[in-house]
Amino acid sequence: MRVTTAFKRLLRLEGVNVTDVTITPVLIVVTVALRRRRLVCPHCPFKTSARYDTRPAPSWWRHLDIGTFRVEVRASLRRLRCPTHGVVTEMVPFARPGANLTRDFDDLLAWLATRMDKSSIARLCRVAWRTVGTACERVVADELDPRRLDGLFRIGVDEISWRKHHSYLTLVVDHDHGVVVWGAQGKDSATLDKFFDELGTERSALIEAVSMDLGPAYLKSVRTEGHAPQAIVCADVFHLVKLVGDALDEVRRELWQTLRRLPDDRWAKDFKGSRWALLKNPEDLTDRQAEQLAKIKRNKGGIWRAYEMKEQFRAIFAGDVTRDEAAVLLDAWCARAQRCRLPSFVKAARTMRERRDLILNAIEHGISNGRVEDSTTSSRG
Ligand SMILES: [Zn+2]
Repeated sequence: MRVTTAFKRLLRLEGVNVTDVTITPVLIVVTVALRRRRLVCPHCPFKTSARYDTRPAPSWWRHLDIGTFRVEVRASLRRLRCPTHGVVTEMVPFARPGANLTRDFDDLLAWLATRMDKSSIARLCRVAWRTVGTACERVVADELDPRRLDGLFRIGVDEISWRKHHSYLTLVVDHDHGVVVWGAQGKDSATLDKFFDELGTERSALIEAVSMDLGPAYLKSVRTEGHAPQAIVCADVFHLVKLVGDALDEVRRELWQTLRRLPDDRWAKDFKGSRWALLKNPEDLTDRQAEQLAKIKRNKGGIWRAYEMKEQFRAIFAGDVTRDEAAVLLDAWCARAQRCRLPSFVKAARTMRERRDLILNAIEHGISNGRVEDSTTSSRG
């Protein structure tokens, strides 16, 4: 198989032929040519076979990584004159207008935005976090393929925000396929009502489970007659795990403030920069972080108790446990957290008790953030 053919199959870019592939130590540059002869306006369906001029418009887009390589798609595009939009560069089928990411990359970022915090996405995908926000906006503005709303059984509803919480979007994801299927500006129950309007009563009646972060707004919309009152509502496990991580971080901050004020600065020096050692998953620690964590373990104290509780909580969702087994683990965790004399964990335990049934629903129906790993590895492979 020729390299160009291999990349054409590998990248699955719509409507193009791969004409050249250049591999550098960090970057794979894939040059493509549009198969279609006619020029299409990026903002409307206007088509023409007439070029506006012969000057090429060189363009590039970031595409999904291949292993550790970044992938850049390049094309020499043509310009056309649209009666409505004036002189514009032609539309490409694999990217949204004005984007410097391919559609697949936009979609991946938008989906990850519902499952991870922004700094993790930025690190994982090697993009600026602003890029995550603009990708989400494009996904929402785009009229998604209406077939995406067919065959939805298990969905997640999430609110994401950026620009210092000035922009809010509601995104609906299909848990079975790991894609964003719908999105709109706003974050209240009226926003989600629009999703159910588009979905219609027939398809809404097929929804079996909905996961969400439990503000009351989305729940109200789901429970409305004609929407999906039959659906089992599951807690969004990602948010719960994050909540426990935040409780741990609060314990860490308090300890740090105490150590800083000691006359002997040796303790503070030792503890400095331990944030990631505590918050990251143990299997992802660098050697230095692992060493730091071992030191914290030797010193015991509240911070180590807090760390253990964070890991125990995470373990409830990592394993393959039944609803009954999870109930035992969760109750034991809540009991321990309630007795631990760390205010942030006492508070977290109260929240978990309130949401006990919804957390167990999430475990029983297999809707958990374990999917994040599955999806990122497969889409990056
Ligand atoms: Zn146009």
